[in-house]
Amino acid sequence: MSLIPITVYGDEILTKKVKPVRAISDQEIKQIKDMFETMHFAKGIGLAANQVGLQKAIFVVDVSQVEGYEKIKPIVFINPKIVLHSEELVFMEEGCLSLPDIRLEVERPEIIKIKYLDTDENEQELEADDLLARVILHEYDHLLGKMITDRADRNQIKKIKKDLVRIKLRDIEVDYPITERQK
Ligand code: ZN
Repeated sequence: MSLIPITVYGDEILTKKVKPVRAISDQEIKQIKDMFETMHFAKGIGLAANQVGLQKAIFVVDVSQVEGYEKIKPIVFINPKIVLHSEELVFMEEGCLSLPDIRLEVERPEIIKIKYLDTDENEQELEADDLLARVILHEYDHLLGKMITDRADRNQIKKIKKDLVRIKLRDIEVDYPITERQK
């Protein structure tokens, strides 16, 4: 297994839609293991493939370190699709490994239902609410090329403008590997 540098705000790949996975081969299995390792190292609770430079419809989630969620095992979502979501929207503060040290209030559905493939290519369905729904929707957004900076309101973005520039310039301190600045 190996750690993969995480793409950060300004990296083009984060603004692009990923492609569906056609078959889950040994390569994908290894990449998924690396994604988990990278996410755990960075102390994240979710990580999308394009955050480690892969244009594939895969994300991983592990909320088992969060109080109240200890029983939820790590989950890999391959070719996910949100099939249902509640009308009620709730605000919650979110962070993102691609936006070091930034927190933004984002409004999203409270409850969701998602369909996806597991690593054996079996179709799975999961209903989630609260924090788990939140993480899933956040990672799902990544696969669409969207980040919390696309979701938060303008006033919040105004306040972090300078921080965003600093991230682009790599004028930040991060205790996990990130990509080099793009030319
Ligand atoms: Zn993120």
